[in-house]
Amino acid sequence: MSAWSSATLQYSFHQLTDGFYHAVNPMALNKPEWVDWNADLADLLSLPQEENAQLLAEFSGQTIPQEFRPIAMKYAGHQFGHYNPDLGDGRGLLVAEIKGKDQHFYDLHIKGAGLTPYSRQGDGRAVLRSSIREYLCSEALHHLGIPTSRALGLINSRTPVYREKTETGAICIRVAQSHVRFGHFEHFFYTGQHEQLKQLLDYCIQHYFPEQQHQQKPYLAMFEQVVLSTAQLIAKWNAFGFAHGVLNTDNMSILGQTFDFGPFGFLDAYQPNYICNHSDYQGRYSFANQPNIGLWNLTALAHALSPFIERADLDAALAQYDPELNHEYSQLMRAKTGLNNKQPEDGELFNQLFALMAENKVDYTRFFRQLSMLDLPDLPDQSTQQSKISKNAQQQVLDLFIDRNAAKYWLDKYLTRAEQEPASTEQRCQSMRLANPKYILRNHLAQIAIDKAEDSDYSEVKILMELLKNPYKEQPKYDHYANLPPSWAQDLEISCSS
Ligand code: AMP
Ligand code: MG
Repeated sequence: MSAWSSATLQYSFHQLTDGFYHAVNPMALNKPEWVDWNADLADLLSLPQEENAQLLAEFSGQTIPQEFRPIAMKYAGHQFGHYNPDLGDGRGLLVAEIKGKDQHFYDLHIKGAGLTPYSRQGDGRAVLRSSIREYLCSEALHHLGIPTSRALGLINSRTPVYREKTETGAICIRVAQSHVRFGHFEHFFYTGQHEQLKQLLDYCIQHYFPEQQHQQKPYLAMFEQVVLSTAQLIAKWNAFGFAHGVLNTDNMSILGQTFDFGPFGFLDAYQPNYICNHSDYQGRYSFANQPNIGLWNLTALAHALSPFIERADLDAALAQYDPELNHEYSQLMRAKTGLNNKQPEDGELFNQLFALMAENKVDYTRFFRQLSMLDLPDLPDQSTQQSKISKNAQQQVLDLFIDRNAAKYWLDKYLTRAEQEPASTEQRCQSMRLANPKYILRNHLAQIAIDKAEDSDYSEVKILMELLKNPYKEQPKYDHYANLPPSWAQDLEISCSS
C-alpha cells in the first residue's frame, strides 16, 4: 500500500502559474540509503513511522509517485547586500503540500534533488555534511521552541559530488509551512511584474495570514505580521546564542521561521562579534548584527511591496520591529535569569553580566544552565549551609569564569536581586531550567556525527536526534554531550560549500 494513501495532499502553490516555478523531475541518486527518518514528524504528517524502501525510492528520485508534482520555485534576493536576480530553487524541489494532524498544511521539499533551470553553475546536489547539519539543526531549534523549517528524513547515496574533495550526494527532506521567501517578492518587483506580485500577496494572505484577509488594509496587515514574527525570531536566536550565518533575503521565510541552514553556529564561549560564516569578511551576519540585518531585510521586502502598500504605512510597520525585538529578547532573558519582575537596576545587572561573560569567554549555554541549578541541595557533609542557595552550585557558576572575584561580585548582586522575586528559589530555578537548555547542537557534536556518517556509520546522527528532542531535560546517559567543546574543536571551520 502506498504511504500516500492515508495522507491528505494539496498543490496550492502549483495553481500560481506564469513565472512562479518550473516543473522539474528530480534526478535519481545512485544507491540511496536512509541516514535517518524522523518518526515523530512522520506521525504528525500521517506517514509511516518506520523508514521504508518505497519512501526511499520516492524521495531519492528513483521513482516519482503520482502524488508528487515536483517544481522548482523562482525567487531572487539580496546576497550580502547586493541584489541577485538569478536565484531560485537550484537544487531543491517542492513536491506537494501535506496536511498534518494539527490541521496545518506543510510543504514537502527535497533538497539536493538535481539540476533545475535555476541551478546556474551549480550541480543541483547537496553533500551529506551540510545535509546532516540542516537535518539536525532544524530539529534542534524546533525542540528548543524556535520557529523553523523541519526535516522529515535524510538520505545518503553513492552519487559523487565534487566540492573541495569528492563527497556523496544527499537529500534532506525539508518540511515547512511555507517556502515563500522575501526574495520571491523581490523577483516580481524588480522585474516589474506587479500583477504577479499582487497574486503572490493574495496567495500568502489566503494560505498563511487568513486573519489579515478581513482587515481594512490586508497587505499592510500581512506585512506587519512579517515584521513582528521576524523580530520575534531574531530575538530568540540571540537569546539562545544561535547565529544563522547567511541572512540573505532569499533565506528569509515569509513566516518568520528559521530557513535555509548553511554555516550556522551556536555560541560556545560568549562572543558577541561571533562570525560563523567564513566568507563573511565584514561580519555582516555576525551574531550581534542579526537584529540589524533583520530590519535591513524587512526594509528590502518593504521596498518590494511598495506598489501595493503606502510608504508611510510601510515605515510605520517597520518602526514596530525594534520595540518588538527588544520586548521579546528581554522577556527571554528574564526567563533565563529568573528575574521576571522588572526592577530599575536590572539593565545594569545584565550589562555587567554580558561584559563579564565576554571578557572571561564564558560558555553561554553552560552558564545559564548552571545558574538554573542554584537550588540543588548541597552534599550532606556541608551541613553548615545557611541559605537555600547551594554553595556547590555557586562554585560551579564561578568556575566558569577566569576572574572569579569579579564573577563572585556579580553573582552576589544577582542573588540579592533574585530574592526580591515573589517565587521561591526552587520555583525560580525550576522555571529557569525550562528556559535554559542543557543540550544544544554544538559545532563539534555535529562534526563528530558527520565524520562517522562519512564512514557510513549513522549512529551518531540518530543519537543526536534523540538527545536534541529533549534539550531542557537532564539525560544522564548523555551528560557528556553538554561538555565544553574539546580543544580540537576550538577553531573548527565549517566549509561554506554545501
Ligand atoms: P544558498 O546559499 O543555499 O542559500 O543558495 C543560494 C542560491 O544558490 C540558490 O538559488 C540555490 O538554489 C543555489 N544553489 C546553492 N547550491 C547549489 C547547487 N549545488 N546547485 C545548484 N544551485 C545551488
Ligand atoms: Mg538559500
